[in-house]
Amino acid sequence: MALSKEVYKEFEDVVGEENICDDPAIMPSYYNTEFAAVMLPGNTAEVQALVRLCNKHKLKFRPICTGWSGMFPKGIILMDLRRMNHIIEINEKNMYAVVEPYVISSELQAELMKRGLNFCIKGAGTTCSAMLRGHGHMDQTTSGDDRNHLAIEWVTPEGEIVRTGALGSSDEWFSGDGPGPSLRSILTSAVPPGVTPGVFTKAALKLYHWPGPAKFPVVGHSPKYVLSEIPPNMMARYFSFPSVEKMWQAELKLGEAEICYELMGFNAAMVAANITTCNEEDEKMFNRLNKEVQGPGFFVIIAGNSAEDFTYKKKVLEKIVSDAGGKSLKTVEDPEIEGILMCQCIRISASIRETFRPGGAFNSIPIMGQRDLTIKWAIGAGKAKEPLIKKGYIVDDGGAFFGWGVEQGHLGKTEIFCKFDPRNAEAKAAVEGWQKEQTARAFKEHYFASTMGPQDEIGPALSNYHLWWRKLVRAIDPNGVSPEGGSLV
Ligand SMILES: Cc1cc2nc3c(=O)[nH]c(=O)nc-3n(C[C@H](O)[C@H](O)[C@H](O)COP(=O)(O)OP(=O)(O)OC[C@H]3O[C@@H](n4cnc5c(N)ncnc54)[C@H](O)[C@@H]3O)c2cc1C
Repeated sequence: MALSKEVYKEFEDVVGEENICDDPAIMPSYYNTEFAAVMLPGNTAEVQALVRLCNKHKLKFRPICTGWSGMFPKGIILMDLRRMNHIIEINEKNMYAVVEPYVISSELQAELMKRGLNFCIKGAGTTCSAMLRGHGHMDQTTSGDDRNHLAIEWVTPEGEIVRTGALGSSDEWFSGDGPGPSLRSILTSAVPPGVTPGVFTKAALKLYHWPGPAKFPVVGHSPKYVLSEIPPNMMARYFSFPSVEKMWQAELKLGEAEICYELMGFNAAMVAANITTCNEEDEKMFNRLNKEVQGPGFFVIIAGNSAEDFTYKKKVLEKIVSDAGGKSLKTVEDPEIEGILMCQCIRISASIRETFRPGGAFNSIPIMGQRDLTIKWAIGAGKAKEPLIKKGYIVDDGGAFFGWGVEQGHLGKTEIFCKFDPRNAEAKAAVEGWQKEQTARAFKEHYFASTMGPQDEIGPALSNYHLWWRKLVRAIDPNGVSPEGGSLV
């Protein structure tokens, strides 16, 4: 739906003619979708004014940070936040950083490393926003998802500016819960059945100690970044184990000992994808690693605060792994490959290779929860992939699942992929069927309740969150200007 000239002018008056566009030749460059217009606000006041105009004219809108993903119905207004790209503050003493939406993770991380700090980077990659929640390769140390947001500045779908937590009472960013309004549970950007309506304009993120170098020694070019040297007191290894149970026991003990900077339960297919530069190399490497591993395994990075700390951590690692019958993968001991993995799993460019390269597309079931339960469920979900592999619908990755520790094993994440050719309609339907069945099985067999499942079935088991969520969206978005609110009005 195109905007009338008069309405377009009202929006243009807010952002300036350089920062608004409804040219049909430009619109498809955003998600190949026919938006009513794209607007680029430069600050919170402009976001608020645009949102108020959307309410006045009952027009739906959706914001994006880097725009990697999201659901964008045709005809809505797209708010592209790329002009809001400032790091507002790095508070070293209280260990938080305040950022605008278009600060990407690589920029923030480079600034933080200079100060001996780091933060949770979404596995999607360092080119995604630093601000929006996510989980990633460093969760063992940096936690993940909604646990890293402190105070947030939020323009509600009605155009109010809300400053949560400490910011609401004292202009300070250090806490998301107070003193001041705590709206943590709704401001996560991923609350089902969609993202939080409205626009986050600034957020404070928790920071963590970084024991590594002030400048990460990355050299080379995509798709092959390497390290000019393995940083002092750092090491990366992959260990495989005789059984899932043994692997899991080692993972628990490593969590208790708190010695791993990173613990990522990659399978051999993911290691292969990460250390190669094309599909042909990848397949060869996968076949080689498959012979080298004795069973399931994980990748770890350890990082010492001093030579003595590093020696201690290495000793503990060796003892726990050998007690569980684990074996180090020789291929990863090669310093070049060790460096590639260290680079991809700290500067974070791994997921894009693991998930997209073989197959072309993927569907996944990601779960945060109790690792042992989710692992048990994932073994069944892997077996259920076998008929799809036999029919040639999905890539044979050995039925493997993967997962990782969060907060030194306090929590964990398990995820399982089905990789397929998106041009094959039969394969796509089969993968979607598998995803639905396995999500339902998890709920029925009491492994976990995924909110990706049917909400009216799962909601009652989770305090009817779905009904509360709908009520809440109606209350904060009475004019239905967010796609979520629009479907409820
Ligand atoms: C190959 C691949 C691997 C991935 N791996 C991971 C992973 O390991 N871990 C992980 O956490 N995620 C992962 N993801 C998901 C990823 O986090 C999302 O794709 C996300 O979109 C990343 O970009 P972004 O943060 O810049 O958000 P965007 O793409 O810009 O936006 C994401 C959603 O949030 C909304 N939004 C954007 N900005 C705002 C704002 N300021 N206020 C309110 N709402 C807003 C958008 O409308 C959209 O719905 C993966 C995705 C892909 C494709």
